[in-house]
Amino acid sequence: MNPVPHSRPTLGAEEAKAVAAVVRSGHIAKGEKVRNFEKAFCRKMGLSNGVALSSGTAALHLVLLALGVGSGDEVILPGFVCTALLNAVRYVGADPVIAEVLPETGNIDPADAVDRITRKTRALIVPHMFGLPADIGPLLETGIPVIEDCAQTFCTEWKGRPLGTLGRASVFSFYATKLITTGEGGMAASKDAELLSVIRDLSRYDQPADGKTRYNYKMTDMAAVMGGVQLERLDGFIQRRKEIALLYDEAFACLDLRLPRSDPAHIYYRYVLTGCRDVERAIQRLRREGIDGARPVHRPLHVYLGLNGYAKTEAIWNTALSVPIYPSLSDPVASQVAEQVSKIVEAL
Ligand SMILES: *Cc1c(COP(=O)(O)O)cnc(C)c1O
Repeated sequence: MNPVPHSRPTLGAEEAKAVAAVVRSGHIAKGEKVRNFEKAFCRKMGLSNGVALSSGTAALHLVLLALGVGSGDEVILPGFVCTALLNAVRYVGADPVIAEVLPETGNIDPADAVDRITRKTRALIVPHMFGLPADIGPLLETGIPVIEDCAQTFCTEWKGRPLGTLGRASVFSFYATKLITTGEGGMAASKDAELLSVIRDLSRYDQPADGKTRYNYKMTDMAAVMGGVQLERLDGFIQRRKEIALLYDEAFACLDLRLPRSDPAHIYYRYVLTGCRDVERAIQRLRREGIDGARPVHRPLHVYLGLNGYAKTEAIWNTALSVPIYPSLSDPVASQVAEQVSKIVEAL
């Protein structure tokens, strides 16, 4: 079997053709292609309006700035997520407050997050992890601005409402491993036109000289046309992810592991098994078979901050194994992956 990577972008002739046309046009930086991509993405996701940016991290940074979050403020975020969130909170000089996650899903534990609200809390960041919408209801009820982090999960719904439209603002990522890609890229979206115009203004520095600090976080036209093609393929990508997840669900049903929650809203950005006895050893043994397994989160955020007392987050981190899932993974290869994973996990 050829090596099976943990994730892989699905790119083809259409993307190459679109990017080549932009290169030949000579207009390669931010122009009308970016605006077209913003419009197409928002229409598809049911979003009011969005600003395309250079990354998901940049989107999060500008949303926090536009909400006026800064030094002395607290931002609540879960600990089972990549460091991009921690970085963005630090960029604005705010204090990160880490909430627990639910060990069954890896998503934020809303009761724990609500418990951590203080007079200083200025925003809640809620990532929808691995393709499964988070239990965001109790957080929306707090009245504190909720930022939905849709980097891993979009084009799906929470209680019949499109993801990314639930909170005060939402952010998306188009990094190479994400659901759709522009190489690097992101989007900030909000119903609040004023908030969005602040974000748009902060994202480009060639402005009338009022001396305010701004950022060069623009998307390029080259990236935007790749995103446009990817967007047209997104429904097919998600369909294929669900097919592979079904194959895995059947193959792993008899293992002594917890499978991802079966939910029609789950779009399987990741296929994460939990309850694995020795994740590190499982990853090593899979690698010997040419299969890239991974921890779905490199390290929980409370560890970076030197904090203790995150039993639920550690319970999932210690036992979570993410196995390859991406649209170009064929059924025969997925079956082989399932066979090896089963064999290795049972022998741990
Ligand atoms: C990838 C990711 C980000 C960061 O996006 P970049 O485009 O890489 O900056 C933020 N949040 C989550 C949940 C992610 O998975």
